Amino acid sequence: MENKCIKTYNLEDIMKDKGLLTGWIECELETKTPIFIPNTTNNDIFHFRTKNNEQVQSYEFYSYEDLSEENNPDRTPSKKPIIPGSEIRGMIRTSFEAVTNSCLSTINEGQILYRRVSIPAEPGRIERKDDNAWQIQPCNKYKLNIRRFQQEINGFVEGEPISFTANQKLYITKINNQGTGIKGYFHQGEKMDRKNNESVFVPNLEKTAFPISSDALKNYLENLKLYSDKNVNLHYKDKEHTGYNKITAKKENDLDGALIYYKEYKIQSNNKTFRKLYLCPAQIGREIFYMTLSKVIGTYTPCNLMKELCQACLLFGFTSSEDQLASRIRFCDAFPIKDITKEDYFTQGIIDELASPKLTAAEFYLKKSSAKDNSEVHLWNYDYAGGWKKENKKYTNEFITMPNYKAMIKGRKFYWHQKNKKINLKGKESETITIRNIGIRPLKQNIKFSFKVYFNHIREEELKKLIWVLEIGNYQNNAHKIGMGKSLGLGSVRINVKEIKTRRIKIKNKTINYKIKNDLNVLNEVRTSEHPNEFLGCESNVLNAFIRMTNFEDSPQNVSYPINIGEEFHYKWFVVNKNFLPGSTGMRPIINQSLPENVNNPNLYKYLRR
Ligand SMILES: [Zn+2]
Repeated sequence: MENKCIKTYNLEDIMKDKGLLTGWIECELETKTPIFIPNTTNNDIFHFRTKNNEQVQSYEFYSYEDLSEENNPDRTPSKKPIIPGSEIRGMIRTSFEAVTNSCLSTINEGQILYRRVSIPAEPGRIERKDDNAWQIQPCNKYKLNIRRFQQEINGFVEGEPISFTANQKLYITKINNQGTGIKGYFHQGEKMDRKNNESVFVPNLEKTAFPISSDALKNYLENLKLYSDKNVNLHYKDKEHTGYNKITAKKENDLDGALIYYKEYKIQSNNKTFRKLYLCPAQIGREIFYMTLSKVIGTYTPCNLMKELCQACLLFGFTSSEDQLASRIRFCDAFPIKDITKEDYFTQGIIDELASPKLTAAEFYLKKSSAKDNSEVHLWNYDYAGGWKKENKKYTNEFITMPNYKAMIKGRKFYWHQKNKKINLKGKESETITIRNIGIRPLKQNIKFSFKVYFNHIREEELKKLIWVLEIGNYQNNAHKIGMGKSLGLGSVRINVKEIKTRRIKIKNKTINYKIKNDLNVLNEVRTSEHPNEFLGCESNVLNAFIRMTNFEDSPQNVSYPINIGEEFHYKWFVVNKNFLPGSTGMRPIINQSLPENVNNPNLYKYLRR
């Protein structure tokens, strides 16, 4: 990506042009690898089941057939599979955005950014001093054995005051109903299978309470929301984490007396030091970042004003809460050129689990910045970056944040082509199927489709850009990616423009005459252009990266999610990659490898665990 998205376009300027073009482009699309686009009218078309007889979603290839009543898993697939125009449009828009330095129109600005932490945070209690002032009182944590005090625990509500007696190791030995002994507050941890103790927080008055901002409280409420969101806890083994059923806080006013764990970072910006506080219901939990996605991507946020558009929004249209603009191009569905037989499809089967690195994976999405004073940067994320302090050649547990750090995203998301990859379709009898798998029937490679793209009142230069993106210039080895399973090697398609028809309207003797002209000059101009970035409107390094990424014939070998040697699960690579610095157990996490920015050498190392 470049430094700044250019948003200086608007439709009024275009409409002043005299020579606007209207017409259509006839295209041919060829599948270069298997592709799959689901017909969602039936999500159990092949009747796949796990060992425990749970339903595994399965889909037929897309067609106009309504399969909601279909009940035969051995059915004959459609002779007329369709690639929907909306899929082609999305694919072309993504590439168009990349080579015209346009906005990231599909990004979800409201997404909460966070990271999981491996270092225990400090126990504390939120207290309201007066209407506008809140503070945290640091606490000591006492342990309440679940087996021994099960009955009492069942009766406690979150935050309930308790009096008790405890031993030296802070284990509670007796609960005193008369109010004698130590006074604290009950805190229930997350529900887990193997857990021995609940906690009781006792204010530690040797430590003074400190103020906490409204933003930090809001952040905490977001964190609570995530704990009840099953999608976020997917990484954990099923059923182990089931949220905090006794914590009911929904708004700031509910937080007086809330028991939390806190972690503080001192962050320097413009020679001032700020304290950033992260609150969590769990001792080892997650930090919700104060930084939002729109702040990180800056000018690349989706366009929202009619008068300040990027080139992609100008042509493809946009919708925002303020304004909206209709598209001036329309992608039609693509139809197979010849009738398709059963042999053109794979036998239906189950593909490997689909996953994609989450935005929270800073090692994939954020640039590693280097500190001005050359101090080591071990860890970086949306809010802060820094390293573990070294003393006498040994790392300490003190984390030093880098002054004036600002998170920067690495760029746009594209998938490598995987020319020689055999797709792995497991049969019904496979032992390893889970409900997270999906069953599909992909189409094979070398199948040709045709489709049209209509354009309405566009400039010739816009037509040139569109043609260049459709064909990826004259790079015959290059291709786009469409549909499901892109990361598994599916979805490579090559588009060639066959004809360009422009319609000219002439009013002669009070009658309107249409003239359809075959406009191949523009096509030739685009194909022979030596420096296409000049008319596309991006820097040459961006164009070069795009051409490298979309190269199908010379695509890198063995592309996969990162994985460790001899291990099956990808998340384990991410775990090892947050390798801990030597000399401590889990106290000094780092990011070891991050996604390389050089598209010519995109490799990550695998880990071997002993
Ligand atoms: Zn835009």
